[in-house]
Amino acid sequence: MTALNDDALQASIFSEHARQRLVRLCAVITGEPDAADDLAQETFLEAWRHLERLSDPSGFDRWLAAIARNVCRRWVRRRGQELVVTTAASESVEDVVDLEAELERAELIELLDRALAMLPAETRDVLIQRFVLDLPHAAIADRLGLSTDAVSMRISRGKTVLRRLLTTELREEAGAYGLVGAPADEWRPTRVWCRDCGEQTLLLRREASPGVIALRCPRCDTDMSSVRSEFRLGNPFFTTLLGAVTRPTAIIARTRGWAFDYFAGGLTSDGVPCTRCARPVPLRRYVRGDLAGQSQSHGLLASCGHCGEEVSCSLAGMSLSRPEVRRFCSEHRRSRRLPDRWTEHHGRAALVVSYRAVTNTCGMDVLFAADTLDVLDVVTATA
Ligand SMILES: [Zn+2]
Ligand SMILES: [Zn+2]
Repeated sequence: MTALNDDALQASIFSEHARQRLVRLCAVITGEPDAADDLAQETFLEAWRHLERLSDPSGFDRWLAAIARNVCRRWVRRRGQELVVTTAASESVEDVVDLEAELERAELIELLDRALAMLPAETRDVLIQRFVLDLPHAAIADRLGLSTDAVSMRISRGKTVLRRLLTTELREEAGAYGLVGAPADEWRPTRVWCRDCGEQTLLLRREASPGVIALRCPRCDTDMSSVRSEFRLGNPFFTTLLGAVTRPTAIIARTRGWAFDYFAGGLTSDGVPCTRCARPVPLRRYVRGDLAGQSQSHGLLASCGHCGEEVSCSLAGMSLSRPEVRRFCSEHRRSRRLPDRWTEHHGRAALVVSYRAVTNTCGMDVLFAADTLDVLDVVTATA
């Protein structure tokens, strides 16, 4: 709780940047951009009054989004209307719900709006009532004076047409949201910026199970065979973690959450369970010889002597999995990684991995102990 008394933290929480994101979120939830400013203000006041209820500062974005939803819901109820984004639709089952995900969903709804606008009015009405307002078939039938069979028929036809639109006219955008699958082996664009160069958005390839899910940057991975990260679905553990997930941001959020638990957690215990056979495996530090001194050449490796499974994570990957850095990333969609540098931290040699926002001077530095790769410190940087 001491962190919450820190003036700097409170200043960053209630920053203008955070306010603007909250205004956009309120506009999305209510569908009323004109009221969003006031609702964001009300959300901040409520958050401020109840700050002591926030036990974990790293969960702040999620907590604030939940308050915003309640404030918007009350406002809509006062006006005797229905929410544009219903509770069911705005509460995600993803492990990680943050403002970035909320905003992407807003863009997704915009895309669906455009697709819906291409449908005949009567089909559109039925789809909106079913999937946006979340009404049961019987209620829709009641409202439109149709039989439930007729409603089911329209919904089914509407879904077919919608799917066709999303795979033809709107295919590229729908693909970038993970809304429609690309054929196996095809690299498709995403809306996620490369965290190394900050200049390109990543490409994603998602082979059918038991293939590989891989991410690459067109700028950093010039060799077509090199990738930023890859996950083999032949390993049942990764099938469970990622098998049903299609949205690129959700894939990245899940893998970063897992990497943090597995590698950072493994360093504080005696080792990790093998992801494939669950036998205990030691976590070993690796250094790739040719690039010594670069963070991608340092990392942790869990290599199972029994089944042969190997999983590894570079220092850059370990930095990005830190909750503090993930929060920084959700606040700054574009950032780049600086060249690694060595420093000393309380008498220990440390490797520093640094991220800087592309559009302002905000940044994060993660200090790793050079010998053990334990994290010594995570600091907010401003230049
Ligand atoms: Zn890049
Ligand atoms: Zn094993």
